[in-house]
Amino acid sequence: MGDVIGVRLTVLGSGSAGNATLLQGLARPVLIDVGLSYREVTRRLVSMGVSPDEIGAVVITHAHGDHTRGAALFSRKHGVPVYVTPSTRAVWNAPNVAGWGSLTCGEASDICGFRFTPFEVSHDAAAETLGFVIKTVDGAIGYATDVGVVTPSLRTRFRDCSLLVIESNHSTDLLEVGPYARATKARISGSRGHLSNESLAEFVREDLGRSVRCLVLAHLSRVNNVPEIAEMTCREALHASGREDVRIVVSRQDRVAETVDLGLWVVAPRHRLDSDRQAVLPF
Ligand SMILES: [Zn+2]
Ligand SMILES: [Zn+2]
Repeated sequence: MGDVIGVRLTVLGSGSAGNATLLQGLARPVLIDVGLSYREVTRRLVSMGVSPDEIGAVVITHAHGDHTRGAALFSRKHGVPVYVTPSTRAVWNAPNVAGWGSLTCGEASDICGFRFTPFEVSHDAAAETLGFVIKTVDGAIGYATDVGVVTPSLRTRFRDCSLLVIESNHSTDLLEVGPYARATKARISGSRGHLSNESLAEFVREDLGRSVRCLVLAHLSRVNNVPEIAEMTCREALHASGREDVRIVVSRQDRVAETVDLGLWVVAPRHRLDSDRQAVLPF
């Protein structure tokens, strides 16, 4: 009670075993991807004090199982529309859902008070993979969790955002010495695979927009990365470009990450079941 209501983003889980992000604003909350099981995403929402019945829409980035696993069941159980591109809908063995919403690359869609503009990123799903620029009342969010390379289009679109959710999948060294088969390593490190810590660092050094206040590192590999290494690589890149003002949040596979509040520019404690905010960290 009495809290200032701002736009809040929380990665409920991220990694090759399942991705889901909660976006809360003035209207009903939105889920970006439901790649966790229905049961798990529901459990994590409830741990945030959010009833699954409150969710107003599910928005899908691409038709890989780690982004879609629980989406159809969630949609049916809670009467929530699922927004996808027509080609992703065609290749997704599309289960029954409560309703479809359509996304088109380059065209804005207003969803629950957020203006989503999808664009294509470089990744190997059967249909296109989407990144988003999400305009909110508290600034713009850039969102791209599965990206083989940082394309010129992504650089341009992310430049004026306040918050970026972006992949930091693997350490190139750990991938190289890790247990995966050669072909799998080539797929991951390829231009339509997943973004390395080092490639993200290069983006941070060369192209990070002045308005960016926070980076949420997403889709970390549990085999070929270590959260502390991903964070340190990003932090060094921020330091090298004189951007110590930018906060880093590392998302995890097995638990809900810290909430980023764009309205207050704070990173709030993970479980906000009451209105007490302990340890509020100003930017
Ligand atoms: Zn993918
Ligand atoms: Zn993925």
